[in-house]
Amino acid sequence: MRGLMQEWPLLCHKIMDHAALYHGDREVISRSIEGPMHRTNYRNIHERARQVAKRLEKDGITMGDRVATMAWNTWRHLEAWYGILGMGAVYHTLNPRLFPDQIAWIMNDATDKLLFVDLTFLPIIEAIADKVPSLAKVVVLTDAAHMPQTKLANAVAYEYWINEADADYAWREFDEGTAAGMCYTSGTTGDPKGVVYSHRSNVLHAMTGAQPDMLNLSSNDRMMPVVPLFHANGWSTAFVCPMVGASMIMPGAGMDGASIYQILTEERVTMTAAVPTVWLMLLEHLAKVGGSLPDLQRVVIGGAACPPAMIKTFQETYGVEVIHAWGMTEMSPLGTVCTLKPEYKNLTGQARLDLQAKQGHPPFTVEMKVTDDENNPLPWDAKSFGRLKVRGPAVSSAYYKGHGAEQFDAENWFDTGDVAHVDEHGYMQITDRAKDVIKSGGEWISTIELENLAVGHPEVAEAAVIGIAHPKWDERPLLVIVRRQGCDPSKESILDFIRDDIAKWWLPDDVAFVDDIPHTATGKIQKTTLRKQFSDYKFPGT
Ligand code: AMP
Repeated sequence: MRGLMQEWPLLCHKIMDHAALYHGDREVISRSIEGPMHRTNYRNIHERARQVAKRLEKDGITMGDRVATMAWNTWRHLEAWYGILGMGAVYHTLNPRLFPDQIAWIMNDATDKLLFVDLTFLPIIEAIADKVPSLAKVVVLTDAAHMPQTKLANAVAYEYWINEADADYAWREFDEGTAAGMCYTSGTTGDPKGVVYSHRSNVLHAMTGAQPDMLNLSSNDRMMPVVPLFHANGWSTAFVCPMVGASMIMPGAGMDGASIYQILTEERVTMTAAVPTVWLMLLEHLAKVGGSLPDLQRVVIGGAACPPAMIKTFQETYGVEVIHAWGMTEMSPLGTVCTLKPEYKNLTGQARLDLQAKQGHPPFTVEMKVTDDENNPLPWDAKSFGRLKVRGPAVSSAYYKGHGAEQFDAENWFDTGDVAHVDEHGYMQITDRAKDVIKSGGEWISTIELENLAVGHPEVAEAAVIGIAHPKWDERPLLVIVRRQGCDPSKESILDFIRDDIAKWWLPDDVAFVDDIPHTATGKIQKTTLRKQFSDYKFPGT
C-alpha cells in the first residue's frame, strides 16, 4: 500500500521562494569587494536570482551544465547560486587558494561552461583560461563602473549582464535527485575528487542542520558565515539561513581579525561559523585592542579540531558559546555537533570544556560507526579508536566519474579517513586523520590530542605534531611550535605543560620551533608539507 501524500520534490530554489515570501525583509548584508557595505534582503535576492536564471538560459546554459563560481561570500554570489539552481544547472564552487594548475584541472574535470568570478580572483582566471576550453563566458561579479581591463575576450560585468534579462521567470521543476552542486575535495594526496550534491540532499541537510541540537538557527538570528561558500558546500549556510529566515551577514574578502571584529560588532551578528585559524586571528585581535563581543551568542568551529583553550577563551572571556562541529565535503558537510544532551547539560568547568573538545553527536540522517581494520564495530567506551564510517541521504554515494571507489563499501558505508572513538552517550571524538596518526611500538598516538594540549601553553600560538621514523619504536612524535609574538618558551616548559595530561609514552621526543606552520587551502594544518620539511630530521641520540 502506498502513502497518499503529495509528491513535492525537495528543490533548493523552493528555499528562496519561502524566504522571499515569509522573510522577505530580512537583511542580507555584505562587505562588497569594491569596498562599501551593501544591504539587500531575501525578496530582492529572489528577484535577481530569477534574472540570473533567465540570463543563463540566454547564454545557452541548460539543465545539468556546470556553472562555476570563484567568489567570496557576498549577496551576488548568493544570487548566482540560486539562479543556477533554479534553472537546473549545477553550481561548482572553486577554491581560489588552490594552485592555478589544480584549479584548471578541476574546471576541466567538471567541464565548466560559465564562471562567476570576483574582481579579486580575475588574475587567476586570466592566467588559466586558455587551459579550460569548455569555458565560454566569464561574468565578473561587479558593475560596469568597476569592471577592469581584462585580456579575457569573453568577460562581462555582472550588473550589466544580469540587466539583459528581467525577473519574469518560472523556476524549473524536476526530479529532486537532480545534481545541484559540485565541490572538489582538497586533494592533499592525489588529484582532487568531485563531490556532487543533489537538490534533495541539500534540502534534507539544511533541515537537519537547523535543528535545536544542531546549529539551532532561527529567524531571530543574524548569521555570519565566515566559512566561504567554496569550502565544503559553504557548510550549508546558503540553504539553512534562508530556510529559517535568518539574516545573513557576508564578510566578503575581509577575513583578517580586525575586519571580522568590525563586521561582527557593527552588524550585531548573533551567530557565526569558521575554521579555528580564523578564530585564532580574531582572538589575537581582540586581546590586542581589548575588544568585546556583546551581541555574539554562538560560534560554530569546525573543519579542524578546536583546541579547548580556544573554547575556554570564547566562553569565559567573551561569553560566547562554542559549538564544535565535525563534517566533510562528502557529507554536505555536517556530521556531528557538540551540543549538550541532558546527560551532560550540568557539566561545569574543566569537565564541560573536555566534553566540548569532542566533535559531538550526529543528527538523524547521519549514521555513524567506528570499526577496526576488519570492519568490526568497536565499543562505545570513549577510548577504543578506529576508522570512522558514515552513511545517510546527504553523504556521497560515489565521487564524480567513479574516482576513489575504494572509500565506499557494498553497504554504502563511506570511510571518512578519520580515526575516532565514541563515548557511552554517542559523542564522537576525532583522534586523527588515518594518515597522520603516529604508530609507536604497535600502539597509536593521537596527534590532535597532543596539539590541543600544547596550544593551551600561554606562550604557544600554534602547534602541530608529526611522526618521525624511530629505529626502535617505528615512529615517535615531534612537536612543532609557532611561538606567540614576543615570547620565547623553552622546550622543557612546553613538555612540562602537557606531561601530566597524557600517558608517559605519548610525550613528544623533541620540540622544534618554526616561524610558520603550513596550511591547506581550507585552513587545515598541512602535515604532508610539514613532514617533507622535517624529512631529514633525526631525534637527538638516534
Ligand atoms: P573538508 O572536506 O575539507 O571539510 O575536510 C574534512 C576533514 O576535516 C575531516 O575528514 C576531518 O579530518 C577534518 N575535520 C573537520 N572538522 C573537524 C573537527 N571538528 N575536528 C577534527 N577534524 C575535523
